[in-house]
Parts: sequence; structure tokens; C-alpha cells
Amino acid sequence: MKNITPMLSLLVIKDIASKCGFDLCGVAKCQNFTTDRLFFDKWIDKGYAANLEYLKRNRDKRADASQLVEDAKSVIVCAVSYKNRYSTGYHSNCHQKIASYALTTDYHTTIKEMLRNLFSKLKQIYPTISGRIFVDSAPIFEKRYAVEAGLGWIGKQSLLITPQFGSFVLLGVAVITDECDQYDVPLKVKGCGECRRCIDACPNGAIKERHIDTRLCISRATIESEGSEQIPLHGWVFGCDECQSCCPYNTKTEFARNSLFTPTFDPAEIDWHKISEAEFSLHFATTPLSRSSLKRIEENLGSTYSL
Ligand code: SF4
Ligand code: SF4
Repeated sequence: MKNITPMLSLLVIKDIASKCGFDLCGVAKCQNFTTDRLFFDKWIDKGYAANLEYLKRNRDKRADASQLVEDAKSVIVCAVSYKNRYSTGYHSNCHQKIASYALTTDYHTTIKEMLRNLFSKLKQIYPTISGRIFVDSAPIFEKRYAVEAGLGWIGKQSLLITPQFGSFVLLGVAVITDECDQYDVPLKVKGCGECRRCIDACPNGAIKERHIDTRLCISRATIESEGSEQIPLHGWVFGCDECQSCCPYNTKTEFARNSLFTPTFDPAEIDWHKISEAEFSLHFATTPLSRSSLKRIEENLGSTYSL
């Protein structure tokens, strides 16, 4: 008798995702987010994307994952907490702050490996399953899918907030051509409510309630700036966590359980002026700092903090 692959089970997917080290997993139907697309277009038109050219490209695909993966039916969204002791903020006199996600092996590598593992385990049960995995590697509204998959809501600082782990989570998605036996639904929660701590905490006033003016954002400026611009960096040399460390949903959450997200260095103890290019490559090649350079970090260190 011919073997028939069973239909994908939501519970099985969640169970395997947990075994692969993810803290959260949900599945949403693949869809075309036309309203989000309109909002995104307006955001780009207003110049809020600054020099992030990749955001301006492939907008049709970004809104509609079926243009990214032919015949896509479902999107598996996985999240893992990365909160560590630096996520809650640095000492006020620290002027070489690094966003807490950047203190470990680059999450693109780690999460891609976790997703590959998930996919291969799913394949053992569902041999015909097909699709693609992404970790910031393709245009897709992954935070929107995370909301649809019941993982959380989009906070006023434009990040996903999960009830269990706050906003210190990293996402990976698998867009698959298979249907699931059931789908998650968005959470019924009050979300941010009247809170506006992140808006008030942003040192450059970059948060405009559910979207960011990245022209003013330190995270972009420390990593993606083209050298000629000068915005105050407030002691950050790579990324910025100010709008997360202040969030009430982040204060009571535990540190990351997955040891792959344990910091591998103490950013306050590095003397960047004494490090050679070779040492920088040796120590930071596998971390997100490799997206930057020693020269850029030194420039950020020497920032005048003035407009
Ligand atoms: S990352 Fe920093 S600069 Fe950017 S919006 Fe958040 S607090 Fe503001
Ligand atoms: S600080 Fe407040 S407004 Fe900002 S994301 Fe957190 S809950 Fe929402």
C-alpha cells in the first residue's frame, strides 16, 4: 500500500521546536499583508528607512510570502530568548555599550542551525514537507507573522513583545508549502496600553509610536551609517538596547535558558584602542560585531555626542 504522509500537526511542530532549543513556536497561514504593506510604503516614503536600502527593495515579496516561496501555505515562527545580564542596562559611565544580542555567536548562524535541525526532524515525520528557512535573510514581515502565530504583539518601539520573554527574543521562520492541521491565532492581550516608557527612554526621540525614524536610531547609526552623518550615540558603539531595557515586559523575565545565547565577552572590559585588526577578527569574527569593523567601533567610541 502506498505510504501517505500525515498532515502537519501544530502540536508536533511546537514539540519539536522546543526540543530544538526554541522558547516559543507558532504557525500562521501564509497571507498577503496588504495593510502592513501600505503602512510600510508610507514609512519608506517619509524617509524613515534612512540608508537601509534593502528595506526599500522587494516590497511585494515582503508583504506576500507566497512570492518568496512558491505555493507557500504556512509560516512557522520560532523565537528564542537572548536576555542576559547586559540586557538590563549598563553603568551610567560606560561609553562602550554593545547591544546585548551582539555578545554571543551571531544569532543568524545559531538560529539557522536550530531551524535546520527543526526542519530535518520534521522531514523524518513528514517526508514530503518542503519550504525555506530564514533568519533576517529574506524580505518577510516576520514580526507580523509572529503576531499572527500567537507569539505576542508589536510594541510601540516596533519590536515583538512576548508575554513570557518580553522583547529580548530573536526570530527565525520557515515558510513551507504544506498546510497544518490547525493554526495559531493572535493573542488577546492589552499590549502596551497607555505605557510610553520606550518612547520617553529613547535618547534621540526616534520612536514615533509603533514605528521608528531610523535616521535618529543609534542601532542603525552605529552599524549601518555611511560615515558622514553625526547623531548622538550616547555611549553605544554597536546597537542600542535603551528602548528594551526600560520596558516593563522585560524587567521580570528570566535570563536566556539556551546556553547558545550566553555572552562570550564583557563589553565594558575591552580596550578597543589596544586591539589589533587581527585580534578583532580572531575574537569577534563569529559574533554580530563582524558586521561592523574595528575602525567603525573606534569611530563610534570617539563620537562627539553632538548633532
Ligand atoms: S534602538 Fe536606541 S536609538 Fe533606536 S529606537 Fe531604540 S532606544 Fe531609540
Ligand atoms: S516600554 Fe511600554 S510602550 Fe514601550 S514597548 Fe514596552 S510596554 Fe510597550
